[in-house]
Amino acid sequence: MTQVGAACRERLDQLGLAWQPAEALDYVAAPVTVSDLGFGAIKLVPTFRDPPFVMDCHLVVAIAEQAAGLYYLGVRELHFSSIHRVSQVRVGGKRGRSMSRHALGLAIDVFHVVDSEGRKHSVLEHYRGGDGLLGAIENVANQSGAFRMVLTPGNDPESHYDHFHFEALVEYPLSEAAKRAIADQRAQKKAARQKARQKARKTARKRLARKKAAQRKAKKERMARKRARAAKRRGSSRQSRRATPQGDSSAAKPTVQARPQRKTGKSRRRSKPAAARRKAKR
Ligand SMILES: [Zn+2]
Repeated sequence: MTQVGAACRERLDQLGLAWQPAEALDYVAAPVTVSDLGFGAIKLVPTFRDPPFVMDCHLVVAIAEQAAGLYYLGVRELHFSSIHRVSQVRVGGKRGRSMSRHALGLAIDVFHVVDSEGRKHSVLEHYRGGDGLLGAIENVANQSGAFRMVLTPGNDPESHYDHFHFEALVEYPLSEAAKRAIADQRAQKKAARQKARQKARKTARKRLARKKAAQRKAKKERMARKRARAAKRRGSSRQSRRATPQGDSSAAKPTVQARPQRKTGKSRRRSKPAAARRKAKR
């Protein structure tokens, strides 16, 4: 435990808490556990996990120092899901880059509160309806200076719609292990991003190459068709020059096309006497 941790431990004794030092755990700088999760006048109750609940000493002090005030409001139990867990910050529905204070054992997620009459005040069900006790807890915690701003459905409806996130306000240097872990995590993410970018570039290059190959093929086919048409036209005109009445069908076409011209000529010649005849009749 660091020197800062030692000072904190003294404070635990002053507050009269039944605490034990805990074994070193991930990034928790001053790990302790509290017997029966009793914090003076109030109690923490886990919603589903089993003990031990390792916390940083500073979170214990922050809660214990507010216990009398919370008791005065009517709070008897704070039901929480987790304290220590290695995770990244999550606010506004997005995962942040930095490590969550849960990883340092400095934060606790409270889902509901039990009052002096045994009534359950659920953050999910009652906060938005203006539950007086939940609102008062939020105000007291924010005004105490013991916590960073409490995250609630009010200020973070995306990621904290069903619980209060309390985080002990303590600034002390991260342990070397924590710093290394954070740096490793960032390096891994950076490498993953680079790999993804390289893959995307490779895919784009392949797609472009396929597109160009298809364009080249299409052009080649177009040219081949054009050449074939030109060759056919040349062949047809050669055959039409040599055409005989017994010629094949392809050779017959130009002959058929040539006919109307002759017809037109004839009809023009015939039309004159016809018109003249009509004129004469009138
Ligand atoms: Zn939390």
